[in-house]
Amino acid sequence: MPICGVLGWPVRHSRSPAMHEAGYAALGLSDWRYQLLPVPPELFEETVRALPGSGFVGANVTIPHKEAALALADEATDSARAIGAANTLTFLPGGRIHADNTDAPGLIDALPVAPEAATAVVLGAGGSARAVVWALLDAGAADVQVWNRTRERAERLCAEIGGRVVDALPEQADLLVNTTSVGLQPDEDPFKALPLSADALSGYPCLVDLVYGSGPTVLTSAAQAAGATVVDGLEILVRQGARSFERWTGRAAPLEVLRTAARGEPAGDAAAEPAT
Ligand code: NAP
Repeated sequence: MPICGVLGWPVRHSRSPAMHEAGYAALGLSDWRYQLLPVPPELFEETVRALPGSGFVGANVTIPHKEAALALADEATDSARAIGAANTLTFLPGGRIHADNTDAPGLIDALPVAPEAATAVVLGAGGSARAVVWALLDAGAADVQVWNRTRERAERLCAEIGGRVVDALPEQADLLVNTTSVGLQPDEDPFKALPLSADALSGYPCLVDLVYGSGPTVLTSAAQAAGATVVDGLEILVRQGARSFERWTGRAAPLEVLRTAARGEPAGDAAAEPAT
């Protein structure tokens, strides 16, 4: 029985198990399973090294383990190394561990506009911003401007990956990507936390918001009202998951099945984890 899973802390709200298991069922992979793996940082490496012996063929990795996942891998894709983080581990025959970052190609897969020669603004300079900036530049974006609340972090990102730091947003760009966690709390006003007004959104024909919750975020609703094409965080989740699914199963991911499952209720296995 091939098993995959998602390692995180906390991870109980992850939609990945529902998404991957729906994909297995749709393709007749009836003996495949996907499990939540709530693991605190101090047990991460030990747990990962034990997984192949328990039938695991691969694992997704989420907060806060993406850097540790890359560090323990025996081999890694160039993209994972450049980004400095991995979200997909594959357990190879002979015990070697392979690391990939599917957040980057997942973003490009989800874009409704061609990234080549595009101008882009990225809000945030955390882990997911690194994947987004790398992906846009690798796909041929003409200009990637990075704004972050803590400027030094944006400076570090741009020095290591590329793009340029800005203190104020341009009036127009082809693409606006929110990689900050602003919007995660339903009562949080993104127009207070970010250097952006609802009116200014009309300068961006396409908005990608990595944040997702139980409904549309304030930012996605406002961008839609301003006439933008919107890609929400669940679509980003589906696209990175599809890339991992394909790596492990060797089969094309049934995207629509993954989408429907990701948009359903989370399974909610609340093992002994801290509250989020
Ligand atoms: P991270 O490394 O912790 O970075 C968080 C970012 O948010 C930093 O740039 C931080 O700025 C900024 N931030 C936090 N609170 C802020 C505030 N009140 N005002 C302005 N900026 C604020 O997190 P991450 O891993 O990049 O994840 C970021 C978000 O993306 C999370 O909501 C996560 O759930 C989501 N995400 C979604 C997917 C998906 O598949 N859809 C994948 C990955 C991540 P400072 O540097 O100033 O602290």
